[in-house]
Parts: sequence; C-alpha cells; structure tokens
Amino acid sequence: MSKRKKPVDPVAKSNELREQIRKHEHAYYVLDRPEVSDAEYDALFLELRRMEDEHPELVTADSPTQRVGGEASEQFAKVRHRSPMLSLQNAFDEDEIRAFDKRARAAVGDDVKYCAELKIDGLAISLTYDKGRLRRAATRGDGTVGEDVTANIKTIRSVPLSITPVAGLPDVFEVRGEVYFPIAAFEKLNREIEAQGKPRFVNPRNTAAGSVRQIDPNVTKSRDLQTFMYTLDPGGPCRSQWEVLRTLEKMGFRVNKHRRRLGSIEEVIEYHAEWQRKRHELEHEIDGVVIKVDRFDQQLELGFVARSPRWAIAFKYAPEQAETEVEKIDCYVGRTGVLTPVAHVKP
Ligand code: NAD
Repeated sequence: MSKRKKPVDPVAKSNELREQIRKHEHAYYVLDRPEVSDAEYDALFLELRRMEDEHPELVTADSPTQRVGGEASEQFAKVRHRSPMLSLQNAFDEDEIRAFDKRARAAVGDDVKYCAELKIDGLAISLTYDKGRLRRAATRGDGTVGEDVTANIKTIRSVPLSITPVAGLPDVFEVRGEVYFPIAAFEKLNREIEAQGKPRFVNPRNTAAGSVRQIDPNVTKSRDLQTFMYTLDPGGPCRSQWEVLRTLEKMGFRVNKHRRRLGSIEEVIEYHAEWQRKRHELEHEIDGVVIKVDRFDQQLELGFVARSPRWAIAFKYAPEQAETEVEKIDCYVGRTGVLTPVAHVKP
C-alpha cells in the first residue's frame, strides 16, 4: 500500500500553532523564562501569519497575530495606556524591507525620509509625567493594559524623576522606550549567581524583564539596568520622529546616539549591514534596527494594522545561535594518527 501524506487541515493546524505560540508567549512575557529560542518562536509565528493570510476566515480575534505581547500579571496593579503600546512588523531580508518602502511611497508619495534606530533588545516601558514629575511607570503588558512598576523603575538612575519642561507639551504626557541589561552588568550578575551555586540567567532581555517585575525594588536597584527612550506621546511641538529624539534628549532622557535620518531604502539597508558588523561593539544587545517613516503627517496617513503601525518596521538580524540536533559524528584519522571528530548537524 502506498503511503500518501495526509493533507494538512488548516483549521486544526492553525489552532495547534496558536496553542503553541500562546504557551511560549506566557513563558516569555509572564514568567520571563522562554522555553524555545526567539528564532523558533518567530518561525511558528510566521507560519501562523502565512496560514491566516492564505485563509483569512481562520483569523480569530484572540489570535496571537492580532495582539501584542503578553498579559499583565496579577502581582502588580494594572495600568491602562494613554494609547496602545504596539508591536512592530518584522522584516528578515532586503526584499521585505524594499516591499515596505514601496508600500510607504505608494501611500504618501516619494518625499519620504526614514528615521533609523537600533532595535534595543530589552522590554518596552512607558513613563507618565504630570507637571514635570514622574508619576507612573508601566510595562507594555498586552499593549492596552500593562503593569504598574513605578517603584522599581524609579531605582534606574537614567530615568529622570523630574524633567526640563518643553513648550507645547500638555501637563500629562508619556515617554516610552526600552529598559535593558548592559552586557557587562549581566555577566557580573551571572558570576555572582554562579558563586552562590545557582543556575545562570539565560539572556539579558528576559533578565531585564524579570528585574523590572520584582516585588522588592531593592532587587531592581541592585541590577544596574539602563534605558533608551524613543517615543513622546503626544508629540507636542515635534513634527517628526527625528525631532522627538532630539527633544527627549533636551528634556533629560537617555537617547541612543546611533540614530540616523536616511533618504533612501539603499541607505537603510547599508545602516542595517553596518550595525550587523558592529553590533558586538555595543554595551548592550540589539536584535535588529527599527525603521520609521520620519514625518508625523505621513505616519498619520499610513495608520495601523492589527498589532503594529504601518509606518515602522523592525529589520531583524538572523539569530546567531539556534538549537539543532547532531545527526551523526564521523571520526577522521589524520596522517599522524590524530583523531578529528566531526559532528553533522541538522541545518
Ligand atoms: P519585537 O521585539 O519584534 O518589536 C517590538 C518592540 O521593539 C517594541 O515593543 C519595543 O519594545 C522594541 N524596540 C526596541 N528598540 C526600539 C526602537 N528604537 N523603536 C521602537 N521600538 C523598539 O516585538 P514583540 O512584540 O516585543 O515580541 C516579539 C519578540 O519577542 C521577538 O523577538 C520574539 O522572538 C520574542 N519572543 C520570544 C518568545 C520565545 O518563546 N522565545 C516568545 C514570545 C516572543
């Protein structure tokens, strides 16, 4: 009897993918303990998105492709964000980034400049200021409702507790950006933890998230976390992302210096390649670069899709590490009798 491959049932397959993705998101966002690599998670997510693109009738309102991040944990008070804290569309190669450029130009015309920034591998945070004082800090949570982590964020020295006012901003506004674990501080923490005979932390990103979501702010304080801010909501006097970054700097926030305003998609591709080469010179991890249509009037025209703006995209780097299986090990005998084992791994 010939063995025929059973056709894939799209309903069952998409349900299965959603279940798997939800499980990984819970481990990643809520428990800060990922069970698979980001590359594996991204592959599952892409497979689901492709299935849903092919069969739009399969999209459910609670599908991971329609929502952002994880859920807010019960440990902290819940906070509703002024406007949703969204995720970003991803591009993994030049074709996808050129397609993004084409779509943007088709919508707003050829006079487009991009604000290019490093994609800091940390966790998103939102700071609310009221009459110049830091009133509240919240995690992204599911994008609509986050967790109140004010006491913990106040222990991070680069977060201003009061700011230099700027004309044109209302009394209450939000500043958003990334909290991250500098690599040197992360390694120091791991040396300390190993000396106590405890298992090492897996990666700086999840350890930063775990450090921000501590019940005791003294633990957060001891972790030497850092920040880079990149969003002002509302934009106040600013007319572009480029101006936002300059304004945030003037107000006293820590803003990444490696940003660039670029006039063509070729320059964007070059910026991405440049930072792929230089990423290890940085004191923190990056997992790509973020490209934003610079002008706010053009951003407004482009608008949003379910979970991300249509005016921005993350141009990611291929993972440097992935898990695989050893298929076989050959042993070669050299001329002098030296044995050289060679492992063959699944691509
Ligand atoms: P994302 O990380 O792809 O992009 C959105 C985030 O980028 C924003 O929320 C913001 O925090 C951050 N960012 C950094 N620098 C920025 C800048 N200059 N401008 C704007 N934003 C900037 O999306 P996501 O929704 O946070 O989650 C997906 C990521 O989490 C992927 O890398 C995915 O692999 C990983 N993940 C892994 C697992 C797992 O099990 N391993 C599970 C869930 C998610």
